[in-house]
Amino acid sequence: QAKREGRNTVRFFSLNLQEQIQDALALTRDLRWAQERGQLVLHYQPKVNAVTQRIVGVEALIRWQHPTRGLVPPSRFIPIAEESGLIQEIGTWVIRRALAQTAEWQAAGLPVVPVAVNLSVVQFRHPGLRDSLAEALRDSGLPAAMLELELTESVAMEDSTFTIATIAGLKQLGVTLSIDDFGTGYSSLSYLKRFAVDKLKIDQSFVRGLHHDPQDEAIVTTVINLARSLGLTTVGEGVETTEQRDFLRRNGCDELQGYLFSRPLPAEAFETLLRSSVGVAPCIA
Ligand code: C2E
Ligand code: MG
Ligand code: MG
Ligand code: MG
Repeated sequence: QAKREGRNTVRFFSLNLQEQIQDALALTRDLRWAQERGQLVLHYQPKVNAVTQRIVGVEALIRWQHPTRGLVPPSRFIPIAEESGLIQEIGTWVIRRALAQTAEWQAAGLPVVPVAVNLSVVQFRHPGLRDSLAEALRDSGLPAAMLELELTESVAMEDSTFTIATIAGLKQLGVTLSIDDFGTGYSSLSYLKRFAVDKLKIDQSFVRGLHHDPQDEAIVTTVINLARSLGLTTVGEGVETTEQRDFLRRNGCDELQGYLFSRPLPAEAFETLLRSSVGVAPCIA
């Protein structure tokens, strides 16, 4: 009896673990087909000028419409894509789709703005990145200035000749480089001097505390001042309230992004926003 229970206990735990592994494997298998089955889509979230609230840019954010699981968030499947190597293919698709969409809007006579895509560290380290970007730009017919790459600090801070050369190569293409989630990494600030980045996106965890947390306020104003003195543009991420907006605006943040202006929208809805607003983002929240 004891032996059987012991075995059952072991089996319970090992099945549980096995289930988790099976689940991750199933997700990996499904992800392999997701792109060609049209389950991956991009949603688009505007960035607005802090003073005028006109749309000055847009970020493409990936979504996976899974046939049985429903909407799987990027936080769940991007790590899987990175571990399985699928991120190369998916990442290339994201870049090409975002550029193709922007070119379509431009051809339709809409007031287009530069489009930003998030770049995984795995993509960043791939030696073919620069050529792949150059080809995607050529195929879209858009100038490089219409493409912005968002890198996390963990990518940018790694102080190696490879990183410096890669960033220089991307800058040579003419694309804009942003540091995403700025302030959440463990980097030394000296990389800002060495690397030719253009923008800092202030992480939403700091923006959340504006108007009630003096420490977050101190961090945000310091980042804005640092960026300014280095000639970098600042973007406040995750702006949800008018108080947060006003704080950022008052302290000289250049651009804002967040639910206060718009959630990430499917292409058609973002197109309506571009068309109707003549650049002014309405408050949807
Ligand atoms: P991120 O690039 O920092 O994007 C911002 C995230 O915050 C997005 O979540 C966005 O929907 C959300 N957000 C925007 N405004 C607000 C707000 O006012 N309040 C709150 N609470 N959230 C807001 P999402 O779309 O789930 O993406 C999460 C992360 O997944 C992104 O963070 C990015 O790191 C990654 N990701 C998304 N798309 C891609 C992609 O195509 N490739 C790669 N490699 N990573 C991606
Ligand atoms: Mg981003
Ligand atoms: Mg971010
Ligand atoms: Mg993030």
